[in-house]
Parts: sequence; C-alpha cells; structure tokens
Amino acid sequence: MSKGKINVHTENIFPIIKKFLYSDHEIFLRELVSNAADASLKLKTLANSGEFKTELGDLSITVAVDKDARTITISDSGIGMNAEEIDKYINQIAFSGAEEFVEKYKDKMESQNIIGHFGLGFYSSFMVSSKVEIISRSWKSKDEADAVKWVCDGSPEFELGTASRKAIGTDIVLHINDDSLEYLEPTRISNLLDKYCKFLPVPVNFEGKKINNTSPAWVKKPSELTEEDYLNFYKELYPFAEPPLFHIHLNVDFPFNLSGILYFPKFNPNVEFQKNKILLFSNQVFVTDSVEGIVPDFLTLLHGVIDSPDIPLNVSRSYLQSDSNVKKISSHISKKVADKLEELFKEDRSSFESKWDDIGVFIKYGMLTDEKFYDRTFKFCLLKSESDKYFTINEYEDLVSPNQTNKDGKIVFLYAADQQEYFQQIESCKNLGYDALILSGPLESHFINQIESKNDKIIFARVDSNTPEKLIEKEKDLDSKLSDDEKKVIDTTIEAVKSDQEFKIEYISLPANSAPLTISRPEFMRRFKEMSASSGNPMMGSMPDPLTLSVNTNHPLIIKAISEPEDVKRQERVKHALDLALLSQNMLKGKELSEFIKRSLVIAEHEL
Ligand code: ADP
Repeated sequence: MSKGKINVHTENIFPIIKKFLYSDHEIFLRELVSNAADASLKLKTLANSGEFKTELGDLSITVAVDKDARTITISDSGIGMNAEEIDKYINQIAFSGAEEFVEKYKDKMESQNIIGHFGLGFYSSFMVSSKVEIISRSWKSKDEADAVKWVCDGSPEFELGTASRKAIGTDIVLHINDDSLEYLEPTRISNLLDKYCKFLPVPVNFEGKKINNTSPAWVKKPSELTEEDYLNFYKELYPFAEPPLFHIHLNVDFPFNLSGILYFPKFNPNVEFQKNKILLFSNQVFVTDSVEGIVPDFLTLLHGVIDSPDIPLNVSRSYLQSDSNVKKISSHISKKVADKLEELFKEDRSSFESKWDDIGVFIKYGMLTDEKFYDRTFKFCLLKSESDKYFTINEYEDLVSPNQTNKDGKIVFLYAADQQEYFQQIESCKNLGYDALILSGPLESHFINQIESKNDKIIFARVDSNTPEKLIEKEKDLDSKLSDDEKKVIDTTIEAVKSDQEFKIEYISLPANSAPLTISRPEFMRRFKEMSASSGNPMMGSMPDPLTLSVNTNHPLIIKAISEPEDVKRQERVKHALDLALLSQNMLKGKELSEFIKRSLVIAEHEL
C-alpha cells in the first residue's frame, strides 16, 4: 500500500469540515447515497451508448449498518473508480475546492451550507467518521484483482493500495466516531433515507427492503398520469393532509431545467398559513423544505415538489436570493401558475368558482406581492356578491355602474366582511337597489387598496362606512334643516344619554322613513387601521374604530325630540333611537342591552 499526502496546504481542513461546513451532520448520508446513485446512472449511460459492453446487473444501492464493527457501508454497482480517478476526484479536486472555500469563507460562520458547491460532498463523511475507506473497482478494470482501496483517518494523509473486488462498483465504509454513534441505530438511518432518498432514481435497499420510489409522479409526463395518480402522490408526500383542490404540473427544460407538481391545498381560515410545505429536490435527491427565495413568496403556501438541478443547492440563502438564475426560475413558476389558473377559469368556470373561496386568498396574496402576477390574474380574479354569485372585476363594474356611480363618476363597490354580521346594512343597500360584495379573507383591506390604486374608476366602501343613503353620494348634500340652536339641543341630549362610546356627530337630511340615528365607521380610517394592524402594528389594531353618528334631521322622532318641552322625555326618545342604532351594529351589550329590552317591553305593552 502506498502512502500519500492529500493535496492541500491548509493542514487543518478536517476540523473545518467537521465543525462548520455543514450545520447538519446527517447530510453525509444524502451525499454518499447520491454519489452512489450518480455512479450507477453513469454506468447505465455508458451501457446505453455501447461503451460498457457487459450486460448490466442489478444497479441497486445498499446501505448497511454493522453496530458491532461500528461501521456504515454504502455499496453501489456504478462506474467505480481506479487509482488514478481516486487521486483525481477524491484527493485533488475535492481539496482544491476546500482550499478555495476556506480562503473565501473562513470568517463567515453563516456560510455553512456551501460545501456541495465546491464538490466536497464525499468529505462530509468525516463529520461522522474517524476513518473512511473506499473500495472500488472501475468499469474499465481488467479483472477483480484490479480494484483499489483508499483509507483516510481524517488527517491529510491517506493510503492508497490495491484490493480485490468481484463486482464493478464502490463500497464506502464509514468507521463511525464516538460523537456520532446515533447513526448506528437502524431507525435513525431509515428515517434519514426516508427524508433524503425517498425518490432517488436508483433503488436503495436498507435492511433488506427497498426504501424508495424511483419514478415519482413529477418525473413523468402529465399525459401519463391520471387524477388519481396525482392524488396518490400527494398522499405519499403528506399522508395526513386533506386532499388538495387541484395541481399544477411544471415541466421546463429551457432556459433551465425544472420539474415539479404544485398542489393548492384547501384553505382553512382557522389554521395559520403553513409555509414550507414545498419540498425541493435536485435530481430526485431531497435538499430542503424551506424554499423562500426560490419560489415566489405567495407560492410558499402551496404544497408539492420542485426538482431542479439548476438551482445551486448547497449554498446559503442570501446567495440564493441574489442569484439571477433563481430569480428567473421564480418568475417562471409564477407565470406557469397564473397560466394554469387562467386555463382552469376558461375551461370550467363553475368549477373554478367553486374553488374560489379556497384559492382566492393565494391569488390575492400573489397579486399583492407580484406585479406581473397581478396583471396576469386580474381578468379572472373573482368577487363574490352577497347573492353568492361570482363576478370578475370587470363584470362587476358593468353590473353595478348604472346604479352605483357616484357624483364624481366613481363606481362604488359596496362590501361587507360577513353576511350575518352585516345583515341589516346589506338589506338597507339592497332596498336602495345596490349590490354588496362579501370580502371576508385576511388580506381584503390590502387587496381593496390595490384594486383602487390600479383602477381609478373604482372605489370600495364597506356597508357600514356611512348611512346607507350616503354610501354612494349621488348629488351635493342637502343642507340640514335644523338651526344651530336645535343641533345644540340634540348634541346635549346625545351627550347625556350615551354611555362611554365616542362619536363624531353629523346632521344629514335623509328621507323621513330612514333611520333617525345611524352609526357608521368611516371607510378610510377603518381601513387604514386594519392595514396597519395586519402589517404588524398591534397598537393600531387595539384602538377603537372611529365612529360617526348621523342624525337624520327629517325623522319625526328627531323633530319630536326637539319640540319636547321636558328634558327627560326628550332624552328617553333619543336614548331609544341611539340604542337601536347600536343594536344594528352589534354594539349594544351588557347592562345597556338589558335596560333596552325592559324599556322595549314597556313600549310593546303600552304603545302597540
Ligand atoms: P461531487 O459529488 O459534488 O462531485 P464529491 O466529493 O461527493 O463531489 O465526489 C467527488 C467525485 O468523486 C465525484 O464527482 C465522482 O467522480 C467521484 N465519486 C464519489 N463517489 C463515487 C462513487 N460511489 N462511485 C464513483 N465515483 C464516485
């Protein structure tokens, strides 16, 4: 056996590899098994091209744990390596990469995951091993005595000698170090194989069982797959999840390679958005489940897999985010998703509508965060009316513009956050011949703002943002018929009867049969508050909504109250009207409510 020194000037390369190249020691297994898979696929290619003339045997990879000997062995039947190749690929190249790495990153502890970038995958084995052996017979070898053995104990010195090996291929034997004994537990290895190698393209055996599915759905052509295949694959990925709504199969080979299947999950308003459900693979080897920076932000809410050998995988997140290739990939995925949604919308609108309540929130998130996605999806972004009908924004504009255009020529889209809670206000709108939308998702105030800012003819007003008659201002305000003195009388009365609510009082001239007093929440302030709260300003969220109390100066009750000689009588009338206004806003609570009920019973007994 000959001895040699690994071609490296930095003597302390191994401590560096061990300590901080990888934050996760466990990935040694991924690196070694995927090397084995690469070697197997290379041999297949050589056989297909006729260069390797012997008939191919079983190309399975085997992982074996020997607890007594404290070894893990990864065996493949791939192309193997001869002495020259070991020297070139293991001794030289890897370490020149390591030197470059050390030079570049010695001060930056955060760049932990950069190893693969420099072709150091094999050396990750030293994170868990006190000694590593390679026993390999190259496909070019003459006979079984023409095999090689390389041994290295983690110092820059290695031994390279001849060995005897029957089959072409490679065994990597890891002598597990004292700190890494956990990897001698079969369940630990089996969990790791399940995590990283579940969809590897070459069969992998552990403890006599094949652990992987070598041709997962995403590597197949969409035409080869049925709906059921997609569903089954989803179950394989997320055994406990509810079935998804639909999927998008991505298949790109220019200007980069990418395949994958994205699933739209059912939206559950009671569960926090679950990010990091998309799994990222490189040539069927699992890499990570945190895809921020690769997939557009809003799509991180989807489920599924993305596989691309073109994404630099073992590099730091900040590197990924600034990589121009990654940016292209991200915008391409976004376009594909928009195209698929449009296709669904065009092909089967009613099915698209039936999914809208679930997918709307993703689409709105996308529209808010990605300009191009907004432009692509605007035409099929749906609005749901209180009558449960769905309209595109342009359709809705056409529907309501005859009745709901205000004096400034703006089309007013009225909306409520919930059908039950705003029942009363929605009814009032309908009585005036208006339609109302239901916008109940978590992003609505931002969405509304965006639609308004991009469509200068449209404005939104929540049904409680003004008295129903004034939600859409058709002409200039009629002047109030009350004198200033009379207004003062009402002001003082309201002040005397109200509890701790704060109102801005305004006097308006409405038909006599409209409500005497109405409470509203002015659109602008309320929306501003909601948006600040959802952008992480809890202070704003806890502030009470600013309220306006509108007094209908034509209502008989108000007129009667003014002419009432007795303060007490006047206060009783105004109090009752105020309670009714509070009641219709769900704001009458506790003692106030119980007194209101008592008083109403008296009225029912005596006046009806
Ligand atoms: P990378 O896989 O990123 O190239 P590695 O350090 O993991 O870097 O491996 C270096 C090289 O060693 C590989 O490119 C390959 O040529 C060779 N090699 C590693 N493992 C095997 C194996 N099991 N069979 C054949 N060649 C291998």
